Amino acid sequence: MNMKIEMPVLPYADNALEPVISRETIGYHYGKHLQNYVNTLASLVKDTPWSAKSVEELVAEVPEGPLFNNAGQTLNHALYFTQFMPAKADNQPTGTLLELINRDFGSFDTFKEQFTQAALTLFGSGWAWLAQQQDGRLVIRKESNAGNPLRNNETPLLGIDVWEHAYYIDYFNRRADHVQAVWQIINWQVVADRLKG
Ligand code: MN
Repeated sequence: MNMKIEMPVLPYADNALEPVISRETIGYHYGKHLQNYVNTLASLVKDTPWSAKSVEELVAEVPEGPLFNNAGQTLNHALYFTQFMPAKADNQPTGTLLELINRDFGSFDTFKEQFTQAALTLFGSGWAWLAQQQDGRLVIRKESNAGNPLRNNETPLLGIDVWEHAYYIDYFNRRADHVQAVWQIINWQVVADRLKG
C-alpha cells in the first residue's frame, strides 16, 4: 500500500456486516472515529515536510505523539475496514496463506486460539495483529493504542481493533463475544493479498 491521507472506501454496504458489526457501529466507527483520525492527521502534516509522505511512511518514521497516534489509527482502520465481507459459515483462509498459517502456528484452529487470546488479554485499547516478519514467518502481535507492526518493520496482514468503540454498541463489554464473531466476516483473500512476495 502507498496510502494517501484520505478515507478508505468501504468495499461493502454499511449494513453488510450485520449481525457481527451493525450499521450503527459502522456509522460511528468508520464515519466518526476514523474520519476524525484522518482529519486530524491531515491538519497535523499540513505545511510540514511530513505532508509528502505516505501514511505507511509516517507510521514507520514519525516520533511518538499525536502525529504517530493519528497516522497509526488512519492506517490501522484502513486495513481493518477493507478486510471484511458479509458473514460466511466455516470461513477460513485457503492456498498459500493457509499453508503459512499451518507452518507457523500448527493449524488454523491453533492460530485462531492464539490470536483470540492476544485480543482478549490486551489491557485497555489496542490492536491484535497477524503480521509477516522480514524472513516471511507469520507472527501474532499485541499493540497498544495506535500501534502497528510496520513500526517494527513487519507487514500487517490482519488487524482486530479492541478499542471499546469497535464493539461497545453491539456487544457492550463483551469483547470475547465480538472477537469470536469477527472470524465470520474476515475476507481472507484480502488478507492473503497483503503477503509479501
Ligand atoms: Mn477503532
